[in-house]
Amino acid sequence: MGSVRDYQSIVGDQLVEEIYDLARQLGGCRIQHINSTLVGGGVAEILKRLVPMMQEAGLEVRWDVIKGDEEFFRVTKTFHNAFHGVPVQITPAMLDTYRRISRENYDLVDPRADFVILHDQQPLGLAEVRPGHPGRWLWYCHIDPVDVDREVWDFLSPWARRCDAAIYHIPAYARNLGHRQYFMPPAIDPLAEKNREVSAQEIDAVMERLGIPNDLPLVVQISRFDRLKDPLGVVQAFRLVRQEVPCRLVLAGGGASDDPEGIQVLQEVQQEAAHDPDIFILELPPTSDLEINVLQRVAAVVVQKSIREGFGLTVTEAMWKSRPVVASPVGGITVQLIPGETGLAAATTGEMARALVRILRDPALGEKLGQNAREHVRKNFILPIYLKRWLEILTAEKSYPV
Ligand code: UDP
Repeated sequence: MGSVRDYQSIVGDQLVEEIYDLARQLGGCRIQHINSTLVGGGVAEILKRLVPMMQEAGLEVRWDVIKGDEEFFRVTKTFHNAFHGVPVQITPAMLDTYRRISRENYDLVDPRADFVILHDQQPLGLAEVRPGHPGRWLWYCHIDPVDVDREVWDFLSPWARRCDAAIYHIPAYARNLGHRQYFMPPAIDPLAEKNREVSAQEIDAVMERLGIPNDLPLVVQISRFDRLKDPLGVVQAFRLVRQEVPCRLVLAGGGASDDPEGIQVLQEVQQEAAHDPDIFILELPPTSDLEINVLQRVAAVVVQKSIREGFGLTVTEAMWKSRPVVASPVGGITVQLIPGETGLAAATTGEMARALVRILRDPALGEKLGQNAREHVRKNFILPIYLKRWLEILTAEKSYPV
């Protein structure tokens, strides 16, 4: 990981200086991020880049991951689905599991941290030890809680309320918890392996290794195998598109250690696509940043057919690579994808198929959308911008009494 100054050519000198100024004002602060997985999913992706960047700017930062068993992650995945409005069955045993694992992780909290940041709902139970702790606590909600199941919210929200403030990606996600609120969409790191420029030779080598021919345009979705990413819907849309324009589909993704449903969803998709030589289902290990980078770059169109989406970093990544994106207009995707300008929105399978055909038949349209997309990301969703917003929030929080 390099330095904030490495981003000067992308974001300009002024922003870089502002970051160092803010970091100096926060000098000596200890910050602890806590989440539930080191790899897989958007939160790990963000922390992997943000933490070293905060350290480089001069802050004392640590990142800890709560330890849970399989049962705990089944419960938190159910909660995750419940946040997204999926009907779920909650039992007293599930709540006991959550409380038990939370208790087992109390010691993870740094007793000297000036800021404890709990990412999403999995570590929220640690807020039980907020009273008596000398730091400020922030709950960072990365998902869309608008249709959260009432029972799950009633169980978890008292811990969110114990935090001094909450951070949401967009104002539409705000919940009335009676404490301070901040809004901050996440960002991608343009210099990370996943997003850096790659040479034509590197692209060829990766595509050969993955065994994907390059004689037809590729429609690509990169996502964890999760029903909320609707991979089966992508296959259906693709089959409609292929009747009109010859093309191939790549569905690529791995699992996350806090997502036990992934294997089952992957199997469903493999079954659906079996015997179809135009569909490539790739199970990616966590070390696949270059592969993801290349797949997003070679795509004629990137799709993201999410039913719900907290933000949708895969959309940001593809947009940064100047790819035309067709995505469902849900959650955080709506602040990235301006329909007809930085991509095309498609609310149904039929709409998605039509949008894909439109772009595949009109490369100039794809080119225009892709260029606008990159500029939109450069101005709004790039790591240094995100870091500056973080430093502003921490500075604001520091001005309030603990
Ligand atoms: N990702 C990955 N490997 C995979 C699937 C996804 O590294 O097999 C990355 C993807 O590139 C993106 C993040 O995980 O950076 C997913 O974030 P997003 O906000 O799109 O969705 P989430 O998984 O958090 O719901």
